[in-house]
Amino acid sequence: AKAAGGNRYEHADPEADTRAITRYGLTNSLPTALERGEFFIEYQPLVRLSDGQVHGAEALVRWSHPLRGVLGPDQFIPLAENTGLIVPLGRWVLEEAVRQARDWQFQHIDGRPLRVNVNLSPCQLHHPGLVRDTVEVLKEAGMDPSALCLEVTESALIGADEALLKPLRELADLGVDIALDDFGTGYSNLSNLRRMPLSTLKLDRSFTRGMQHNPADPVDIKIVEGIVSLAHTLDLAVTVEGVETGIQAEHLRVLGCDTAQGWYYARPGPPEQLHELVLVDAT
Ligand code: C2E
Ligand code: CA
Ligand code: CA
Ligand code: CA
Repeated sequence: AKAAGGNRYEHADPEADTRAITRYGLTNSLPTALERGEFFIEYQPLVRLSDGQVHGAEALVRWSHPLRGVLGPDQFIPLAENTGLIVPLGRWVLEEAVRQARDWQFQHIDGRPLRVNVNLSPCQLHHPGLVRDTVEVLKEAGMDPSALCLEVTESALIGADEALLKPLRELADLGVDIALDDFGTGYSNLSNLRRMPLSTLKLDRSFTRGMQHNPADPVDIKIVEGIVSLAHTLDLAVTVEGVETGIQAEHLRVLGCDTAQGWYYARPGPPEQLHELVLVDAT
């Protein structure tokens, strides 16, 4: 089901894949997969639109299955959530990504610390150990909390009450950045944004698509303009995902978006890719 030339791990029908994996009993091999070290992380650079500099990367988990090859997160994260494995898996991703970011900081010569973004699933948000675990991981790595950004999807926060926001607020108070992922897909109440301890809105890929042509789709321009102005009023940075062409990047830069991520800059890849990009960038 792999789409040739597209996202290596993107499947035409993720739900059918998930069903098939369940059928083949892969749910059972999930816990041992963690013990056997079958998960790995790819990093996709985050680029500042104003000057084109790489300032960090998002950690994206993959499963190197001994029989089925490399599986993308859409194929196993839902299973991990259903089985509760997402909590230890999520902690592993956090540990791994923070350790990687710490290494990047050591290798970095021009004093620009690279940051790392880690996705949090709704289960992890509800887990009582979230703040403790995160603080522990940062301490063990000796990393400044401000070098970490946790991404939470808009849908995970819909109707969020104080109990759910409290751990995020504690993390934000420690200096961890919180980003609202897939923004624009979850019908969130815009006035709710004020209550949330956010520093970044990550605009969903669907908005980037309207920026494909020259001139860009006028309705999409108005929408993005509105979101950027709202975000900046609330002191939030705007990151755009799914930037595949220079035309899109240019439109989004002109519209005032702060950071971009997408195939135009780099596909998710091994940690060395980021190091190379930054070094090339710095010369
Ligand atoms: P996401 O957080 O929205 O991540 C962005 C997705 O868009 C990634 O898919 C990335 O490979 C893809 N992408 C990046 N640039 C482009 C582009 O220019 N064009 C297109 N068409 N796609 C692009 P991926 O790696 O398959 O991850 C899918 C989702 O799985 C992520 O969506 C995230 O929600 C989830 N995920 C990934 N890693 C983790 C993790 O460690 N924990 C949790 N809870 N979820 C994760
Ligand atoms: Ca994300
Ligand atoms: Ca996203
Ligand atoms: Ca997404």
